[in-house]
Formats: sequence, structure tokens, C-alpha cells
Amino acid sequence: MAFTAALDIGGTSLVAGLVRRDFVVQRRLERPAPAAADEVISASIALLGEVIGDDSIDAIGIGSPGTIHPIDGLVVASDSKPEYEGAAIGPRIGDHFNVPYAVTNDVNAAGVGELAHGAAQGFSRVLVVSIGTGIGGALLINGRIEEGLHGTAGEIGHLLVGAHGVHPCGCGRSDHLEAVASGPAIEARYAAETGEQALSLAALAARAEDDDLIAARVIDDAATWLGRAVAGVGNALDIDLLLLTGGVSGIGPRYTDRVAQAFHGEVMKPLREVPVLLGALRGDAPLIGAATYVRARLGID
Ligand SMILES: [Zn+2]
Repeated sequence: MAFTAALDIGGTSLVAGLVRRDFVVQRRLERPAPAAADEVISASIALLGEVIGDDSIDAIGIGSPGTIHPIDGLVVASDSKPEYEGAAIGPRIGDHFNVPYAVTNDVNAAGVGELAHGAAQGFSRVLVVSIGTGIGGALLINGRIEEGLHGTAGEIGHLLVGAHGVHPCGCGRSDHLEAVASGPAIEARYAAETGEQALSLAALAARAEDDDLIAARVIDDAATWLGRAVAGVGNALDIDLLLLTGGVSGIGPRYTDRVAQAFHGEVMKPLREVPVLLGALRGDAPLIGAATYVRARLGID
């Protein structure tokens, strides 16, 4: 039986998977992601080769950071990873394995997965917010991913959340949502307030549960900024679901409850019953979504 191979290029790791026709992930391998685009492509080819093994594949679906050209699979632009711009991620990987491929933004891939097989099924206007190393978003309208004219539809990471000029963002500007509410931003704020360096987000979340008031406040603030900022986008797009995905969204109910509380406190009245859900596919969402995306693009049953 032919599988579809899937690749999720994240901010800190590369994940390759072999996805069955019923969109179950059969095998999955994860490695730290190198920094340079060329090395990412070589490492991706090696990892995909390993996960495919002796099995046959019909296509490769790829979720990549940055804004992706929907036809040729090139990274058109990346504010947070300018070294990726122009990288021929799709063509080089597709040519190496000699199979058809499609590339979409990594958060778009997660959104496609959740829409087809996860928590967004049955909703018609969904804002997907991915909180991890960075903050990204995707927009699912009437059962399909809305990629937009330039490929930035749903990108909420660079919303302005303050005007103090004190939170430098990975994109080179400042005071954006990503600069105050991403995983590294939460860790950095805790380190700045306590002098304790290099505490992981998981450890920080455990401390918050254990009555570490600074850990609790740092997490609550990040969740609140996110919920409030996203509420404005929710109003503008008139959504019927806010879906949270990415590593930070999984650190515990305290975080998701605070996001939901802030979102519901900030949205306009008609949206106060809009559910705030966690993605159901968790870490496999980008793989399942990338496989779904490429199969739909190529018309593979
Ligand atoms: Zn930014």
C-alpha cells in the first residue's frame, strides 16, 4: 500500500511522518532543525528517507515556516526566518524522491488537518492560532483553507499588542503578539523577572501549578494578551471557532482557560458563545494536514 509522506518544518524541530490513506500516522521521526535553509533541506531529505524506508509513497506534503508560493512551493518571504526566503524546499525534496509534492505554511497545514480530521470539523469560519516558538495563524472558511492573495491570510503573530517599543519581535519590529506571547517570550520574561535562566516552558507551567506566583503571572499574562488580541480578529472575521494549536497551547488547562476567558471578555456580544478549543490532532496536526493538503491538491483519492 502506498503511503503519503509528510514533513513538518518547525522553528526548533523537523518531523517526518508516513501517513496512511485513512490519515493515521504510521511512523514518525523527529530531529532538531538546523538553522540554514540548505541544511534544513538536506536534513529533511535524510529524515524523510529514513521514515519512508522500503515503503512506497504517492506524494509528499510539506508544512514550512514562511509565506509559501502555492504553485511552485518556494518560500516567498519569511519575516522571522529571512534565511529561508527563496529556498526551493518543495522542488528539491520532490525531485529527490521523484514524486509530486505540495508545500504550504506550517500553521496552514495544521489547520487543514484539524479541519478534515480534527477539532475544526463542522465549523464554517475558524481562526486557528498556533502558539509555539513563534505565533502563527490560519483561516478556514467554508470547509477550505483560505491562503489569501499573498499567502498571509490568518497570520496573527505580528498584531500590535502594545506601543511601548520594548518588546523586540523576531520579525525586526516590536510589540507584536509573537514578541510577548510565544514560548520563548514567556521563558525570557520569567528569566528576566527571577534571574533564573533556561527554565523550560513545561517546567515553568509545573511551577505555576505549584504556587510559583511569578510563573503563574507570566503564563497568565501571555494567555491574556493572546486572547484579547485575537478577539479583535475574531470580531473582524466573524468566526464560529477559535482553535488553539502548537506546543504552548498544550501546557495545561490553566493556559487555555485564561486564553478563553480573555477572548470571551474582549469579543463583541454576538461572539461570546464562540467556542475556544484545543486542536484534537496535537503534534501530528501539521503532518496529517500536509498529507491531506497534497492529496487534495493532486486529486489523489
Ligand atoms: Zn513581529
